[in-house]
Amino acid sequence: MGAAGLMGAEADAVDRLVAWFEAEGDDLPWRRTRDRYLVLVSETMLQATPVARVRPYYERWVRRWPTAGALAAESVGEVLAAWHGLGYPRRARRLHQAAGILASEGWPAPGRLTDLPGVGPYTAAALRCFADEEDVLPVDTNVARITARRFPDGWPGAPGRGWDAGQALMDLGRRICVAKKPLCGACPLRPGCPAADAGPVADHSTGRRQGRYEGSMRQRRGVLLGALAEAGTAAASDDPEAAASLVADGLAERRGGMLVRAG
Ligand code: SF4
Repeated sequence: MGAAGLMGAEADAVDRLVAWFEAEGDDLPWRRTRDRYLVLVSETMLQATPVARVRPYYERWVRRWPTAGALAAESVGEVLAAWHGLGYPRRARRLHQAAGILASEGWPAPGRLTDLPGVGPYTAAALRCFADEEDVLPVDTNVARITARRFPDGWPGAPGRGWDAGQALMDLGRRICVAKKPLCGACPLRPGCPAADAGPVADHSTGRRQGRYEGSMRQRRGVLLGALAEAGTAAASDDPEAAASLVADGLAERRGGMLVRAG
């Protein structure tokens, strides 16, 4: 279906964007499915981890737990061990909790997707766009930047092509309309772009900015989680504060002076 309902210049821009994606878009494993659970897995992994790093994790994950029921039946300790290396392990725990709900109750109504653990407005929009193929634009940091630059009056929509346009914007934001030096010469949205060739512009980030990693609580938690993933136990006395944080989040349990995998 074409961009029916859009005004001429906007329809042309969406046409060019989708044509660019069809010719240049990345072939990613989560783009070959419209299964909501698999889209939820990929979007949860991609929330804070780059595409290249996510890919092998996603492929292993869906081989091991191809359905929400399979994931729900697994212990949280095994799930956390499989997640190790992706970072922000609370995502894995919430994904496991969401799988439990999906396995027992099924999917909530489209307007209630954010009732699921770990599903915020972005992920709910991604499910509607990338699984259900609705014309709903998931706006992450990259997409917010592109729309602020190219569509300052707002995203025009892509009737009938929401999936293609959404995926196209993901690739465009990662490869062309990047934050610091956008490659306007290679951009399918260049005609009519008010920000073309303007050089670096403000980053319209909607995401959380990450602070210094080295020495951070995130890193310390990661060290303990790494030990748990490899050996199944770790000494809580190695870093009592990080240990307490993992226990509070349900990512590990105490057994005497030791930490063990949750679950
Ligand atoms: S022309 Fe440049 S600023 Fe405009 S959308 Fe394309 S890459 Fe971004």
